Amino acid sequence: MIEVTVPLQEGREYPVLVGPDARKELESYLPEEAQRVAIITQQNIGVDLQLETTNEIFLISDGEEAKNLNTIESLCSSFSRWGLTRGDCIVSLGGGVVTDVAGFAAASYHRGVPVIHIPTSLLGQIDASIGGKTGVNLPEGKNLVGAFWQPTAVLCDTSTLETLPEREMMSGYGEMAKYHFLGSGDLEGLELDEKIAKCIEIKAQVVASDEREAGIRAVLNYGHTLGHALETVEQYDLRHGEAIAIGLIFAAELAYKLGRIDKNRVEEHRSVVSHYGLSCNLPKGIEPDAIIEVMKRDKKAIDGLTFVLDGPSGVEVVAGIETSIVKEILNHMDQN
Ligand code: NAD
Repeated sequence: MIEVTVPLQEGREYPVLVGPDARKELESYLPEEAQRVAIITQQNIGVDLQLETTNEIFLISDGEEAKNLNTIESLCSSFSRWGLTRGDCIVSLGGGVVTDVAGFAAASYHRGVPVIHIPTSLLGQIDASIGGKTGVNLPEGKNLVGAFWQPTAVLCDTSTLETLPEREMMSGYGEMAKYHFLGSGDLEGLELDEKIAKCIEIKAQVVASDEREAGIRAVLNYGHTLGHALETVEQYDLRHGEAIAIGLIFAAELAYKLGRIDKNRVEEHRSVVSHYGLSCNLPKGIEPDAIIEVMKRDKKAIDGLTFVLDGPSGVEVVAGIETSIVKEILNHMDQN
């Protein structure tokens, strides 16, 4: 079992346990005063949790549609009827949808209840459960309502990944590929739990220096500007990580065009993305103008088109990039 400590501001911190059966350690991470544990999960997660402390399972629906304020209201009403108090504990058991919803329910119910995440998707383990961002969607857009609410602990049980559908695993690998360029060094030779722990360490370091997302945390969005745009223009049927993988290749080509990195570094991006079995190519029939329009609306856009780009001093936010260059690269990238 690998333990990573996530440092927070004001000397606070929380532990992340990574390895097979990590969920079985839950009892020892519960706050001492907790009398009841509310477990939030989904029907098809199918992971058992054995707890001596009084507990109850609260099911939410599957998919991005379940991440809404109605789900939060219904959970909070159920907690209230069950008698959950601020001294108790909420546990999330599921992918990023469950950890985001459970985290926000924990942040809001009785103005804040401790939460422990047990992420069961690769994306949940290396990304969604770490860093304290919680929230739900509005009809107007994704993740528009939420709170920063740090967990008491995170248990990344790698055994739970055995039942994760292959496409969801690939989606997690897209995020993992990103970490190769954020200072993890070469992850390729490592075991899966070591890779996961390394990604968590990097996210933890970045989050520690920018807990409320004022600046440097934006580097975690490496590959995401194009990735999000590809996801938004839904016709391409891409999972999040598949879109991010293509976004990484695009960002490398753009950085090369701007003279920020050399051809070898671009090839390194292709080699890492391919290592995870992900495609480096744009979806067939892509329309650069439509994609550029969506990227202009990106909430991180400050001045013209803004991207997170690799360069001599590492990955950083670069604003004011001309549309014509972006279009040229999109036109030159291979399509599936
Ligand atoms: P998800 O939670 O929808 O899970 C994908 C699918 O896999 C679901 O059908 C789920 O039920 C199923 N599943 C999960 N674990 C399983 C298991 N062990 N066995 C069988 N099935 C399992 O999707 P995701 O990719 O895990 O997370 C995506 C969400 O995470 C998005 O809503 C995104 O906004 C959010 N997110 C949040 C942060 C953050 O910092 N808070 C970061 C990244 C992503």
